[in-house]
Amino acid sequence: MKKLTLDDLALHGKRVLVRVDFNVPLESDEEGRLMVSDDTRIRAALPTIKAILEGGGKAILISHLGRPKGHPEPRFSLSPVADHLETLLEQRVRFVSNTLGEAVEKTIRGMPDGSVVLLENTRYLPGETKNDPELATSLAGLADIFVNDAFGTAHRAHASTEGVAHHVERAAMGYLLQREITYLGRVLESPEAPFVAVLGGAKVSDKIGLIANLLGTVDAVLIGGAMSYTFLKALGHLVGASRVEEDRLDEARAIYEQAQGKIVLPVDHVVADTFSNDAAHHLVEGAIPEGLMGLDIGPATIAAYRDKLLAARTIIWNGPMGVFEMSNFAKGTQAIAKALVEATSIEALTIVGGGDSVAAITQAGYAKAVSHVSTGGGAMLEVLEGKTLPGLAALTDK
Ligand code: AMP
Repeated sequence: MKKLTLDDLALHGKRVLVRVDFNVPLESDEEGRLMVSDDTRIRAALPTIKAILEGGGKAILISHLGRPKGHPEPRFSLSPVADHLETLLEQRVRFVSNTLGEAVEKTIRGMPDGSVVLLENTRYLPGETKNDPELATSLAGLADIFVNDAFGTAHRAHASTEGVAHHVERAAMGYLLQREITYLGRVLESPEAPFVAVLGGAKVSDKIGLIANLLGTVDAVLIGGAMSYTFLKALGHLVGASRVEEDRLDEARAIYEQAQGKIVLPVDHVVADTFSNDAAHHLVEGAIPEGLMGLDIGPATIAAYRDKLLAARTIIWNGPMGVFEMSNFAKGTQAIAKALVEATSIEALTIVGGGDSVAAITQAGYAKAVSHVSTGGGAMLEVLEGKTLPGLAALTDK
């Protein structure tokens, strides 16, 4: 179903309530003041905010930050984000230390066209994560139009992402949400072959739904990270002390068989005797001896995966190939990041998602050298699993 987009709306003079994803990491500076330490998500929302301001609208921004439990907790205040946004926009950003109520309404009444206000954390309100209809109605009452640009939380049916959309006349996608859905839609609907998925990280359980949904179109699923040890153990290989999801062995075996050779597993591993960057480590081919744990994919696996990636026309990547936070076990993840960059340079469509893969590709300085870096890990997985995002479904049909 096609949804309204920002370009379908007349914005001039309108109060536009925008759900953004400003759930960014904060760090204390020398004076103990909280500052934004990674502003990727704020920057990602700028095109939508600027379009509203340039169109003469009044942008009323709402977001969650962290996981406060339905009441105010100062360490989760959006106040530092307002300061940061002000710098990025080069325009005054008013911050209101409430999400609803008289102070908010008064501020909004006084907003000139083309101005911007950020309200306090939506998760300070007890009804937010419960999708309380009364809260949704109150939020809707602040605005003429609702725009959802928070892809990272679009898989959650909360009052500020889903509920609110039912109580306004028009609810539309922002540019970020639109871009995310367009890229992921291309992968789901018409991936140019060969289509390769690279999946890593800790858990098979997080990725089984995605593998099952893509089996019809994908040509290869390259597995790395701790996930591989659940698969390898399920297939009867020795994995030593590697991290395994013992309760998922049957499921892993079943999807492996169903995939008929499309699931590709590592053939060599960087192993260590303890989970530490200082641990003595070496390379093992095949079986992992008792007492040792696989913490990264080895060079033969890297070479095999790279070949598949360079032959691919469509690639999605979600999840690190090893314990990339430790430099001794980061080579596999870095090599995959580099292979995606090479594949992009020969015109493959390349999409990276999930906090860790995005961090890895950003750290390596490659974020601009792939086709699309998704701002949502969980939301990306759900789209690729074939699920409907509640925050998208609730928007007004075109
Ligand atoms: P996820 O949250 O599922 O994306 O998993 C990411 C986490 O998996 C990262 O913190 C990695 O350090 C961890 N990880 C990746 N490979 C391994 C491995 N071989 N053993 C233990 N943890 C791993």
